[in-house]
This record gives sequence, structure tokens and C-alpha cells, in this order.
Amino acid sequence: MTAPLVTEPIVDTQTIISWLNETQVEIGARSDYLTQLDAAIGDGDHGTNMNRGFTAVGRALADQAEPAPPGRVLILAGKTLISTVGGASGPLWGTALRRAGRALGDAETFDGQQLVEALDAAIAGVVELGAAAPGDKTMIDALAPAVRALHDSLDAGEPLRQALAAAVSAGEEGAESTVPLQARKGRASYLGERSIGHLDPGAASSVIILSALQRVVDREQ
Ligand code: ADP
Ligand code: MG
Repeated sequence: MTAPLVTEPIVDTQTIISWLNETQVEIGARSDYLTQLDAAIGDGDHGTNMNRGFTAVGRALADQAEPAPPGRVLILAGKTLISTVGGASGPLWGTALRRAGRALGDAETFDGQQLVEALDAAIAGVVELGAAAPGDKTMIDALAPAVRALHDSLDAGEPLRQALAAAVSAGEEGAESTVPLQARKGRASYLGERSIGHLDPGAASSVIILSALQRVVDREQ
């Protein structure tokens, strides 16, 4: 028997703003860690890049004249990341948030199923731009299993907070799974076999971003 889907509107602009603010705080707190990960297989700027980007997002949100619908807030955040981050992660996360925002449109509130659709659109945007497949040792290795777990959990009739907890666990596992992989996309791919044995920085920051969403929804629901 298929359990009923969660249909009540449960996520609103405040949820999205809290998520982005929580992300800013968490990325800021773990910026050195992310930079260390990137120093091992990249150019040692991932923490700085993400911190600069989400700090600018925080400022852009604070400067908003009036509260916009969630989709608009995400589009603003995405544009801000694209215009403030020089590294690959800026355009990739910027595209992800813009696509998620476009998927939500001008709705004032949305439910878990619509959140999944927005995250699917976000991942599609990352893949379109960066052409990474699962197993290439990128953020996709954390994001794709996380969103799949979110789908599965909601389809099984679980409430959103539980579905997000499942998504974070799957994302953590996915990020861990990048350690033995050889990078096939991004700067780390230049290292060839020497990229093996290290956690992908973008997969690690993706887990931080998903965890921030999970905590915010957990507090609000
Ligand atoms: P840069 O590599 O330009 O210095 P960052 O250090 O900020 O940018 O981000 C690196 C992260 O970006 C990687 O760890 C990886 O997860 C992600 N990344 C790089 N290239 C791609 C790609 N083509 N597709 C998806 N993710 C990518
Ligand atoms: Mg880098």
C-alpha cells in the first residue's frame, strides 16, 4: 500500500532564509577544514570560496527591500554565488540554487515533494554545467544519493524532517565514498591517481549545506 504523500504547505520564505543563514554560519565555521581538504587535491581555496559566497548571500538577503517568495530568494542567492565566487563551486552551487528557485516559481509555500523537485532541478543544473557523473569524485557523489534518499523516504510516506535526516545520512555516506575514488572532473582530476585517498571538498561542503536545511526544518516543523 502506498502511504499518503505529505501535501500540506510546510516550507516558506523564512525556512529558506534560515537555511541560507545557517549555511553561512556553518560554512564559516568549517571554512578552514574545507580549505584543508582542497589543499590536498586542489588549490586550497574551497573554504574561502564558499565562505565568501555565502557571506555575500547573507548580505544580499539582508538588503532585500521586502520578503520575496522562496523561489525568488533562491534565485537571488544563486546569482550572488555566481557573481562573488571565482572557483568552480560558485557557478555550480549558484546554478543549483537558481534552478531550484526557478522550479519553485512564485509559490509562497511548498511541500516535501516540491522540495524534491527543486533539488532534482538543482542537480540537473550542476550536471548540465559540470558534466560530472556519479563516481567522478565531485559534489554530485554527495548530492545525488542524498536527493534519492529524500525521494524514497517521502514516497514511503515519511514526514519531511525524517526524510531530510535520511538524505543527510545518504549524503554523508556519498561524501565518504569519494575517498577511494580517482577524480575525473575539476581541478583534482589533474592529479590523476594522486587524488585517490582524499575526501572531495565539494562533497564535504554539500553535506554541510544539506545538514543546515535538515536542522532548520527540524526546528521549524
Ligand atoms: P576550484 O576547483 O575552481 O578551485 P573549489 O575549490 O571552490 O573550486 O571547488 C572544488 C569542488 O568543486 C570540488 O571538490 C568538486 O566537488 C566540485 N567540482 C569541481 N568541478 C566539478 C564538476 N565539473 N562538476 C561537479 N562538481 C565539480
Ligand atoms: Mg579549489
